[in-house]
Amino acid sequence: MRCPFCAAQDTRVLDSRLTNEGDQVRRRRECTACKERFTTFEAAELSLPRVVKRDGSRQPFDEKKLRSGMLKALEKRPVSGDDIEMALNRIKKALMSSGDREITAQQLGEKVMHELSHLDHVAYVRFASVYRSFQDVSEFTDMIKHLQEK
Ligand SMILES: [Zn+2]
Repeated sequence: MRCPFCAAQDTRVLDSRLTNEGDQVRRRRECTACKERFTTFEAAELSLPRVVKRDGSRQPFDEKKLRSGMLKALEKRPVSGDDIEMALNRIKKALMSSGDREITAQQLGEKVMHELSHLDHVAYVRFASVYRSFQDVSEFTDMIKHLQEK
């Protein structure tokens, strides 16, 4: 960390603490050359990727849309709200930690299907049938077969 006063490269950390929200580290530093003190804030850069649609257009990641799609698939199924939120969080976490700037709508759909397959098989088939819109009947048969093997 370069000193903002004299541009010396060597600074010493005097104090290091989490901010109130706990998502940033606040560091009090002292320049070893000019002895000026200053503060830095450090935070992880986490952002969700943009979604590339089939037609090549890009859209910002839309959590609301993702949630409503999952809720629709899970309608009247015995799955708790907490479990749904946890599944959503796992998807977001995986996206953020990947560091990818873009994800295809298809990749996102696969992640949702993966989570739904653990939550509820009926919801999984519902989502998959809409999502993949079953271009061919054998695909649907394969999926049912796959479910029965579990
Ligand atoms: Zn300095």
